[in-house]
Amino acid sequence: MAKNIYFTVGPTQTHPELGKFLNDGLEKGIYSMSHRGKAFGELMDSTVSSLKKLLNVPDDFHIYFMGSATEGMELIIENCVENKSFHFVNAAFSRRFYKTAQELRKNPEKCEALDGEGFDFKNAEIPSDAELVCFTQNETSSGVMLDMSEISALKRKYPDKLFAVDIVSSAPYAPVDYKAVDCAFLSVQKGFGMPAGMGVLIVNDKCIEKAEKLQARGFNIGSFHNFPSLVKYEGKRQTPETPNVMAIYILGRISDSYIKYGLRKIQKETEEKAKLLYSFFDKSSKYSAFVKNPKWRSKTVIVVETPNGSGEVLKKLADKGFIAGSGYGEARDRQIRIGNFPTHKVSDVKKLLKILK
Ligand SMILES: *Cc1c(COP(=O)(O)O)cnc(C)c1O
Repeated sequence: MAKNIYFTVGPTQTHPELGKFLNDGLEKGIYSMSHRGKAFGELMDSTVSSLKKLLNVPDDFHIYFMGSATEGMELIIENCVENKSFHFVNAAFSRRFYKTAQELRKNPEKCEALDGEGFDFKNAEIPSDAELVCFTQNETSSGVMLDMSEISALKRKYPDKLFAVDIVSSAPYAPVDYKAVDCAFLSVQKGFGMPAGMGVLIVNDKCIEKAEKLQARGFNIGSFHNFPSLVKYEGKRQTPETPNVMAIYILGRISDSYIKYGLRKIQKETEEKAKLLYSFFDKSSKYSAFVKNPKWRSKTVIVVETPNGSGEVLKKLADKGFIAGSGYGEARDRQIRIGNFPTHKVSDVKKLLKILK
């Protein structure tokens, strides 16, 4: 039997050359190398520069590796907030970011939208004492994607606040305006088609200065992964702890392969596949897209209502070797989620839709 194709939203279908890249690293001895040596410094530099090139991250931003995107949320709150963060919350992952701030006792406030909807950013009011404003570019639980130009416009209204964006399930597809965004984070098991187990943090000097000020005034900004500690080790081309060297290596190889293939081409194909999926579900008498407003529809995570239950649909697909995701949380039994990442081929999307016909 042919191998399954994973249309899940993360972990998802792995990069077609993952086996080759893993094996190259093994043959080169990368997984045994010291993380305090020159070779590791070169590896880290190489992955950082590939990722910056792919994601159009300006040179003056720093890239740090951590355990997961969820850790990124915690670090950003600890290092960028003394008293108050503000959150745009429209489903589970933006709620997780908000909750992290609550757990760290930062008195967060929020602007809430219903699951399946975006925000009226033009009329959004952010409290004057909020230091950090948090967004989730793509809500992986509900399939809503925010428009970066609206985030940029909001930054022009609130230039003194730090802006943090969760780009976990939108990268590398969706552009990020790094003039408006001070920090962003992702994990590797979504758009990069890697095994889970590493997060990436992208931060500018404003965030680092804020962390240094908080630290100097005696605030708890966390331990080994606090921003000043990351900066200190970056200067030595190292990481504070023994890092996931294998993932750092693979991320560099996959970024290079995406650069070679062309981000523009990846974006075009993502849009083509999203169009195939949404027009199928819009025409279907059995299924419908959960997000009704086309402006908010995610291109990378398509959430579908399955009135007769998600179980039989998922089984029908799985019997043919196509694995899709169930709905998130309490929507588990009445929705399915389809990932649309660079590792998903147009031809496989067509095959998947044929099974659902
Ligand atoms: C998956 C996901 C996360 C969490 O990623 P982890 O790697 O589990 O920490 C956070 N935000 C969004 C939008 C996600 O899709």
